[in-house]
Amino acid sequence: MVAPLHPRQRLLMGPGPSTVPARILKAISSPTLGHLDPQYIGFMDETCEMIRQVYRTSNALSFPVSGTGMAGMETIMVNLVEPGDEAIVMVNGVFGGRMKDVLSRCGARVHSVEVPWGESFSRQHFADAVKEHPNAKLLAVVHAETSTGALQDLSEVGDIVHRAGMLLAVDAVTSIGGHELRVDDWGIDAIYSGTQKCLSCPPGLSPVSFSPRAIEVIEARKSPVQSWYLDVTMLKNYYTGAGGRAYHHTAPINMVYALREALSIVLEEGLDERVERHRQMHQRLRQGLESLGLKYIPEHSLHTLNCVSVPEGIDEAAVRKRLLDEYDIEIGGGLGVFAGKAWRIGLMGESASEKNILTLLAALEQCLQS
Ligand SMILES: *Cc1c(COP(=O)(O)O)cnc(C)c1O
Repeated sequence: MVAPLHPRQRLLMGPGPSTVPARILKAISSPTLGHLDPQYIGFMDETCEMIRQVYRTSNALSFPVSGTGMAGMETIMVNLVEPGDEAIVMVNGVFGGRMKDVLSRCGARVHSVEVPWGESFSRQHFADAVKEHPNAKLLAVVHAETSTGALQDLSEVGDIVHRAGMLLAVDAVTSIGGHELRVDDWGIDAIYSGTQKCLSCPPGLSPVSFSPRAIEVIEARKSPVQSWYLDVTMLKNYYTGAGGRAYHHTAPINMVYALREALSIVLEEGLDERVERHRQMHQRLRQGLESLGLKYIPEHSLHTLNCVSVPEGIDEAAVRKRLLDEYDIEIGGGLGVFAGKAWRIGLMGESASEKNILTLLAALEQCLQS
């Protein structure tokens, strides 16, 4: 027998997960239903409808993939790309690098466009990329690069990509529920995100959405999708009801309850209001961190993830350990080229509050003084 489960409550201010509101934890403990029970199908349809609202899209094929953000990334790539296809990936951090890896595992010939970590891409980078690789089938880009804290402006990318006859695929794991995100207005053809960042839901699902143009591309495939589990040509029957709700795999019922509650909280707050709250909280934190002498790394910082340099002579891991052990606060360290050199402080969903910011700043000040 193991001891009863009593995890210490932490203040989650790292790169995800973020603090989960009690309402969501309560929803997840509701009675488990069968995945074909009409009651459950009703909850799932409501969840898919709210995914559309939060993505600001009318895409019929919008649903939660059973798996975390990385499963969403694989779902997009494995369905859109066939062996031998060409693809362009914009890489400015860890997650761009992972998209490149996933695409090459799909058998694509990948052309990556790279800028130094912490930077974002300009309109010109996209225009040059599609000109240089005119046969590419899709262009993939990260909206909110959690490894560096850089925000990517996507408002003009869709036109460039579509005029070149390509699809636009976007990673929105750290922007959904925190930054402005307009799937239809921005011409995004395929998008994935995660539950545990700015939606403040436990990890376990990845909301995705495919445009009608993306579905045409999938339907014109010459080869079957390499992944059985993530094949949307089979999944769409269950999630959209087209062709009957057939069993494919057992949906993670209670996780869908949690996501339904999380999306409902987002919509109750209002999409614009929520984006504005994240902006204000970012400014508040930024002021505090800068007055402690800390410098932001990216020029275009995310509101949801604040990446700052660790000052000379400070042991960054020791500070994070002390924040966790003495103050029950979690922040993130640097990844990849920023390992040992940066802190990543999340202001995601429920965690993005004035009270949390003041608590963190006070604790961090103590750690930096000693
Ligand atoms: C967290 C994250 C992922 C991966 O999501 P998991 O839920 O960890 O699988 C992908 N992309 C970005 C930008 C992320 O921040």
